Amino acid sequence: MQTFDFDLFVIGGGSGGVRAARMAGQRGARVGLAEVADMGGTCVNVGCIPKKLYSYAAHFADFFEESHGFGWEGAAPTFNWDTLKTNRAKEIKRLNGIYDNLLGGAGVKVIKGWARLVGPHTVEVGDQQFSAKNILISTGGTALVPAVEGHEHVVTSDSMFDLNPFPKRLLVVGAGYIACEFASIFNGLGSHVTQVHRGDKVLTGFDEDVRSFIAAEMTKTGVNFKFKTEVESITKTEHGLQVTLKGDGSHDDKSLTVDTVLYATGRIANASGLGLGAVGVEVNAAGAIQVNAQYQTSVPHIYAVGDVTARVQLTPVALGEAMVVVDQLFGPAAGKPPRSMSYDFIPTAVFTHPNIGTVGYSESQAREKFDNVSVYRSDFKSLKHTLSGSTERTLMKLLVDDASDRVVGLHMVGPDAGEVVQGFAVAMKAGATKAVFDSTIGIHPTMAEEFVTMREALPPRSLAAPAA
Ligand code: FAD
Ligand code: NDP
Repeated sequence: MQTFDFDLFVIGGGSGGVRAARMAGQRGARVGLAEVADMGGTCVNVGCIPKKLYSYAAHFADFFEESHGFGWEGAAPTFNWDTLKTNRAKEIKRLNGIYDNLLGGAGVKVIKGWARLVGPHTVEVGDQQFSAKNILISTGGTALVPAVEGHEHVVTSDSMFDLNPFPKRLLVVGAGYIACEFASIFNGLGSHVTQVHRGDKVLTGFDEDVRSFIAAEMTKTGVNFKFKTEVESITKTEHGLQVTLKGDGSHDDKSLTVDTVLYATGRIANASGLGLGAVGVEVNAAGAIQVNAQYQTSVPHIYAVGDVTARVQLTPVALGEAMVVVDQLFGPAAGKPPRSMSYDFIPTAVFTHPNIGTVGYSESQAREKFDNVSVYRSDFKSLKHTLSGSTERTLMKLLVDDASDRVVGLHMVGPDAGEVVQGFAVAMKAGATKAVFDSTIGIHPTMAEEFVTMREALPPRSLAAPAA
């Protein structure tokens, strides 16, 4: 019988890889994991965690401003970018250590370096080779910058956390999750932010009301949007980066000078340099590894999860997929059924200012899927802002499939929207109907109670009405 060094070899120690290696190790499997950079991957080092810390930092600017209406007096403290960077770096280092310890505690052998497949069961890391019965590829993705003239002067989200000096003038290109989040964050921290987008609305794929509403709210906070606009060229000058824009003519300025240009125009799977072709692991037209429902690649004992498969690029999805693979290979945790992964009703938040929280279908998707959809929409100034002086408004929206009465879409733009929507996502996964929402007692006074007190559906003619 063939013997292997490992039962499972994991390539990539990010969200998916660490979870798979740790769980497999805890089940008694012999596990190896190769990681070329700091442990924890995108989310821990240059994604969710530092981004959210910086979002917290940016929110303080609002809080100081808003405190005056509540009786707090005095000038707002000044912001020290270096302190934030140092404290963030310290925290991320702590998390890297925790990940290392978790893996060590589960008996996982960590090999530092770039891994690639050199045979169907063989992984090479530096000058070492390891054999494994099963292999999991969880190498994540990388920001993609289009070949615009002067692209060598731009940065991606990876560099935003350690910029030196702080960018007083920032141009953000794109209008997806990363572009909108970083525009909000740096605007809050004090940059003068311009955001250009080739389309006419931010956040393609989100509910139309949410898209209009968040753009209006971000504009109020100071983000300067230029829609239907693309970058023609970027030139380095003694005054900064001069960016030439081409638009539909609706904007006066054809060029602007900034300190930093952030491209947030999507990400590509890290599938090259892994030796995939040599062992027959197929990638799709977008360069992502193709997997079946069991996360097997075209080579059945080689699995792939997370961003390298470019399906739903979210940390909890990579974690969920990793646990399904481990349960399949090594059995579920004691007393538990094997995990499965469902891609329905995945909640998500965009950490713009204010936040977006959403789960289920957008209005247009719901209309395509269901014959009749009722829309409940509320747009209001929160209690806090009656005294704060802020003009921020909150949007809440429910979509109901009339045939089943099931709530199939729930959207919020407002403070801590992600925190609010997480709980509702559980109810929606469980099939909660509008009647169940209506019979739920609200928590008063909160913003979230609005979701259980919306009684009147919009009249059908108003369904496509733009957000206020
Ligand atoms: P990753 O976490 O990217 O891990 C891949 C790892 O593989 C990396 O550590 C890499 O160094 C390593 N690697 C690659 N190739 C090799 C090789 N050949 N050999 C050895 N090691 C290798 N998601 C959320 O859910 N919420 C958020 O708020 C959020 N914010 C984000 C903010 C930003 C700026 C970005 C970029 C992403 C954000 N995401 C967020 C997405 C989330 O980070 C990813 O979906 C998640 O990290 C994917 O996990 P993964 O395991 O697939 O890959
Ligand atoms: P997205 O796919 O979300 O957005 C890409 C943006 O760039 C879109 O506005 C797109 O426009 C635009 N774009 C694409 N190509 C070009 C081009 N050639 N020229 C100009 N504009 C272009 O990608 P992100 O990079 O923002 O984020 C990647 C993924 O990471 C997200 O999809 C999400 O899954 C994950 N993420 C999650 C976060 C969270 O959970 N809070 C936070 C950050 C990232 P168009 O709409 O016209 O295609």
